[in-house]
Amino acid sequence: MTVAIAPEFGPRARRNEPMSRHTSWHVGGPAEVFFNPRDRSDLAAFLRTMPNDVPIHFVGLGSNLLVRDGGLPGVVISTHGTLDKLERLSQTVVYAGAGVACARVAKQCIKWGLGPAEFFAGIPGTVGGALAMNAGAFGGETWRHVTEVETIDRHGRERTRPASDYKVGYRHVESPAKDEWFLGARLTFEQKPGANEADVRALLTKRKESQPIGEWSCGSVFTNPPKDHAARLIETASLKGFRIGDASVSEKHANFIINHGEARAADIEQLIEHVQATVERVHGVRLHPEVRILGTPS
Ligand SMILES: Cc1cc2nc3c(=O)[nH]c(=O)nc-3n(C[C@H](O)[C@H](O)[C@H](O)COP(=O)(O)OP(=O)(O)OC[C@H]3O[C@@H](n4cnc5c(N)ncnc54)[C@H](O)[C@@H]3O)c2cc1C
Repeated sequence: MTVAIAPEFGPRARRNEPMSRHTSWHVGGPAEVFFNPRDRSDLAAFLRTMPNDVPIHFVGLGSNLLVRDGGLPGVVISTHGTLDKLERLSQTVVYAGAGVACARVAKQCIKWGLGPAEFFAGIPGTVGGALAMNAGAFGGETWRHVTEVETIDRHGRERTRPASDYKVGYRHVESPAKDEWFLGARLTFEQKPGANEADVRALLTKRKESQPIGEWSCGSVFTNPPKDHAARLIETASLKGFRIGDASVSEKHANFIINHGEARAADIEQLIEHVQATVERVHGVRLHPEVRILGTPS
């Protein structure tokens, strides 16, 4: 079945768009349709034209996504560069659109004298992705700041939901409804006039010392098991440097998998499975991927 696109959306909907262009691992087969809405109402109008059986995926900056080599049937909706409103609603409340880069939230909150928002600087994704993952860094976590979210469903219906509608945990967010995605969020911070960009630079420098920043990765591949660290378990199972195809476990941080340039999604997925099986055999602990794995194998 081919997804039909109404002519008015044509220029913004590309067929067979390689997802390797939209993921930080730089792998992934084609999205059947890749749609970059002009704005919120364009997005709602587009969704209203989609039949119920067409799979829909939202993506931000693809910094936590492994798309398989066979690609993604259905429609991929890209929010970055579109849902990009970032404004201060009151002394301590900020509205951030789902397509806003987390680093921009960090930077702007510092200018507004609000915090703690510096942790957003370490997350190379969008606010939508951070809401979906409950992204966190440097001791901060996205949902600690969320009071309300705005959502859209597959029929293009918009809603405002209180944070209490969601079950939230460590890198885990359970939506009250299927096929509903984030348009943006109201985030509450404290007045913190002391924070400055030098603080953020210091945090990022610290991170650069321990993580392979700049190489093609998805950050941490596995969530940390209770009271332990996935990186420690992987390293002590002698997996640092273990390679499949052009993908390997980082020598710098064992919870990162690096694409050295030519890896396929299948190499990375096999490496993920190999790490899981080895850590389970050596330590008796099953690691769970933090990265989202989508699509069809080639
Ligand atoms: C070098 C590096 C370092 C990283 N460090 C950290 C870190 O310190 N802490 C951390 O938590 N993460 C980290 N990550 C992982 C990643 O940046 C975060 O998970 C981020 O929140 C993903 O955002 P994204 O926009 O890239 O989402 P994507 O990867 O595009 O998508 C991730 C998931 O979010 C969903 N999603 C995206 N937008 C929406 C939306 N609008 N509505 C509903 N669902 C949506 C997608 O469907 C998918 O399931 C790191 C990644 C890299 C590459």
